[in-house]
Amino acid sequence: MRSVKALRRLCENEVRSLDLDLPFDAVQLCEKYGKRRGRDILVISQPLPVGMPNGLWLVGDDADYFFYQANTSRTHRDQIIIHEFGHLIAGHQNAGPSVHAEQMPAEEADAALHRTCYDDANEWEAEMIASIILGWASEAGALAGRTAKHDSLRGIQRALGGHSRWL
Ligand SMILES: [Zn+2]
Repeated sequence: MRSVKALRRLCENEVRSLDLDLPFDAVQLCEKYGKRRGRDILVISQPLPVGMPNGLWLVGDDADYFFYQANTSRTHRDQIIIHEFGHLIAGHQNAGPSVHAEQMPAEEADAALHRTCYDDANEWEAEMIASIILGWASEAGALAGRTAKHDSLRGIQRALGGHSRWL
């Protein structure tokens, strides 16, 4: 398991220079990250039934697919997506299965999802990455102010020396 410091460095390296807008949008992060690395991340809203996970990462042949629970708040949506993003940038697909599902009680898992990874260390890393990125997003958002027009925020972001990791 990596240290918090190592995970912060990982986030900085992976998320740097993506030119993200504020307020933070997890879908935009995935789109820009996918474009830069040359392999798309497709974020798909899905009304998942009760007992199913809130988030799911499928590793496709030429793209990654993040499914998230459609019936949820914007904040929770971002948390789910960034958690999956955390698994992705931490390289967890190399260590485990190609399907990663969240919060699936073992007794309800069907055959397809038996491959789900419940490695505690990986879960902890993904949660930590999510909280690091969402923490930066909320700090940067608070500094930039929430009343400014969306389009004008990039310039303000660039002026935020302490948050240059977003640029
Ligand atoms: Zn997870």
